[in-house]
This record gives sequence, C-alpha cells and structure tokens, in this order.
Amino acid sequence: MSDTTHHPHPTARTETFGCLRCGLTVAAFAPDGRRREHCPGCLYSRHLTDHVEGGPSDCGARMTPISVAVLRGGDWALVHRCARCHELTSHPVCGDDNQLLLMRLAVRPLAQPPFPLEAFGDL
Ligand SMILES: [Zn+2]
Ligand SMILES: [Zn+2]
Repeated sequence: MSDTTHHPHPTARTETFGCLRCGLTVAAFAPDGRRREHCPGCLYSRHLTDHVEGGPSDCGARMTPISVAVLRGGDWALVHRCARCHELTSHPVCGDDNQLLLMRLAVRPLAQPPFPLEAFGDL
C-alpha cells in the first residue's frame, strides 16, 4: 500500500485517513476547512509532522491523547504524546470531536490527584 498521507501541502478536500486505533475513515479536513490532526471518534492521532523541525516526520506512530489545554480565547487544544518517540504536540479540538472523551481527559487530573485532597480542608 502506498503511503498517501505524506503531502506537505494537500489541496484535495476529499482526502481521508484511517485512524490507527479505531479504524474510522476520517475526512482530513473538518467542516470548517481546518485540517484534522486526530480522529474525532477516539481522539488518537498519528505522528506525521515533525513539530521540532517543522517538516513531515517519518515516525508515523500512533499518538495518544493525554490531556486538554485551554488556549488564549477559551478554545481547547488536545495534547498528544507519540507512542514511539514520545514527542508532545497540541492541536485545536474540532467541533465534532468526541465530547465525552474530551471531558474525561479534562477531569482526569481532578479525579486522580497525586496528593490527598483532605489537606485543603485545613486551609
Ligand atoms: Zn479513532
Ligand atoms: Zn513519533
């Protein structure tokens, strides 16, 4: 199978990619015209861009969604870590991303604090 995902400047709006985790065929462009960097169903991504050098990456490994970050202006970004090389990336969430999974990522640090919450009762 030839690798059709390594287009640095794609023009075809009908481009799709297959999710490495759930197998969903994802349109490479969201309805608002932005390029998708992750699967809207399971939020996993694929390491195709070298975020340090700026060009395409030959890694190609699965990227696990590990967190959400709030950007200036209130938009959310999804933070991914590459399963192979551990590079961290962040990309804005899309309007049709799985909101349940996004909420789970957002509350996970609160649900699993690394210190006892009872300490706040003494403040
Ligand atoms: Zn998926
Ligand atoms: Zn990687």
